[in-house]
Amino acid sequence: MKVLIIGGSMAGLFAALLLRQRGIEVVVFERAATELSGRGAGIATHTQILDVIESLELDTRDLGVGIRLRRVFGSDGRLIAETERRQLMTSWDRLFTLLRAALPAACYRRGHEFVHAEQNKGAVTAQFADGSRASGDLLIGADGLRSGVRTSLIEQQPLLYAGYVAWRALAAEQAFPRELHDDLFDALGFSLPPGEQMLGYPVAGPGNDLRPGHRRYNIVWYRPADKPTLARLLTDARGHRHDISIPPPLIPEVTIAEMRGARAILAPQFQAVLDVCDRPFLQPIYDFEVARMHAGRVALIGDAAFVVRPHVGAGVAKAAQDAAALAQAVATTDSIEAALEAFEAARQPIGRRMVGRGRDLGAAMQAQLSTEHEHAMAARYREPAAVLADTATLDFL
Ligand SMILES: Cc1cc2nc3c(=O)[nH]c(=O)nc-3n(C[C@H](O)[C@H](O)[C@H](O)COP(=O)(O)OP(=O)(O)OC[C@H]3O[C@@H](n4cnc5c(N)ncnc54)[C@H](O)[C@@H]3O)c2cc1C
Repeated sequence: MKVLIIGGSMAGLFAALLLRQRGIEVVVFERAATELSGRGAGIATHTQILDVIESLELDTRDLGVGIRLRRVFGSDGRLIAETERRQLMTSWDRLFTLLRAALPAACYRRGHEFVHAEQNKGAVTAQFADGSRASGDLLIGADGLRSGVRTSLIEQQPLLYAGYVAWRALAAEQAFPRELHDDLFDALGFSLPPGEQMLGYPVAGPGNDLRPGHRRYNIVWYRPADKPTLARLLTDARGHRHDISIPPPLIPEVTIAEMRGARAILAPQFQAVLDVCDRPFLQPIYDFEVARMHAGRVALIGDAAFVVRPHVGAGVAKAAQDAAALAQAVATTDSIEAALEAFEAARQPIGRRMVGRGRDLGAAMQAQLSTEHEHAMAARYREPAAVLADTATLDFL
C-alpha cells in the first residue's frame, strides 16, 4: 500500500511515522518550500501526545519545561487561586524537529502545493500546483484549518470566527526580576479581567535551551473583537485587509500600541511581562467541525477535520491521536473503505467533544453571546477555580 499525505506539519508527520512503523509506504507533500518553523510558541503536552511519541520510540527527554502549579492573579497582583498540577510545556518547533528528523528525507517533499485529486475504485491521484502528480491507494488531508483536501474532495463549510483574538508573545527569562520569576515561572498563570483572559507559561529558550535563566515565557492574551474590529486588526499598514489571519511582520505598530495601551486591566505581573516581551503577533480564534472525515480513498486528520479553540490545548494531541487511529485502522482492516469507517467512528465523536469544550471555555471572551448555554458557560468560566480546573486538560475525554 502507498499513502499520500498532504501537509507536513504535526498531523502529517505523525501519520507518516505511524504508517511507516507498520510497513506502509508514505510520501508527505508540504506546500512550504522552506523548512517550517513555529515562532517558538508554546504547546501544552498531554499523555495523548507523549504516548504516541513513545510508541514511535522517539526520545522524549528534554521535550520541554515542567511546571507544577496553576495560578490566577487579581488586578491588584494578589494570588487569588492556586492548584497543583504538573504539566510539561513544549513548543511547536521542538516537536516538529523531533518528528521531522525521524522521517527519511525521501519521504518528505517540500514545495508541493496540493490543488486537486481524482479517485476511482483502484487509486487516488493528487495534482500539485507545479503540474506534478502522484498516485497512491489512500490520500490523507493533513493540510490544516484551511484544508484544500477538505474543500475540494469532502465538504465546503466556512471556518467559524469565535468573536475574539489572541495576542501572543515571548519574553526572555533573563528579563524577569526575582519576584516576577517566583510568581510565574513554575506555573500556568492567569489574569482574568472582565471578558478577557491572559495566560502564560515557561517554554524552552532559542535552540530548545532548557537551562534555567535561558528559557522564555510564552503569553497569550485573549481579547474580544467583533467583526468590524477584526477587519481593522487584520488590515496592514498599506491598508490591505487580510483574510483569516495577518502575517506577523505586517501587523502595524499602531495596532500593537493599541493592544499595549489596554494593559492596565491585567494583573501587574502580566503587565510586567508585556513590557519585556518580543514583538507580539495576533491570531484570530476560529473553530470548525466536519460532518464527514472521509470520502472514498480520502481521509482528514488534525486541524483539517476539527479546529478546536486553543483553551483546550488540544491541537497537537488531536493530530497525534487521529494519526494513530488512522494508521491502526489502515494496517488492520482489509478494505480502505472499512478502515476509514472505523477511523471516523473512533475519532469523530472526540473531535466534536473537543470543539464543544473549546467553545465552552471561550464563551467568556466572545464579543457576543447568543444561546442560554453560551451565557451559562461564560458565567462558569469567569470563575478562577473553573478556569484552573478545565484549561489545557483532556480529562473530560
Ligand atoms: C508553521 C506552523 C507553526 C505553528 N506554531 C504553533 C505554535 O507555536 N503553537 C501552537 O499552539 N500551534 C502552532 N501551530 C498550529 C498547531 O501545530 C496545529 O494547530 C496542530 O498541531 C494541528 O496540526 P495540523 O498538522 O493538523 O495542521 P497545521 O499545523 O496547520 O499544518 C498544516 C500543514 O499543511 C500544509 N498545507 C496547507 N495547505 C497545503 C496544500 N494545499 N498543499 C500542501 N501542503 C499544505 C501547511 O503548510 C502546514 O504545514 C503551528 C502550525 C504551523 C503550520
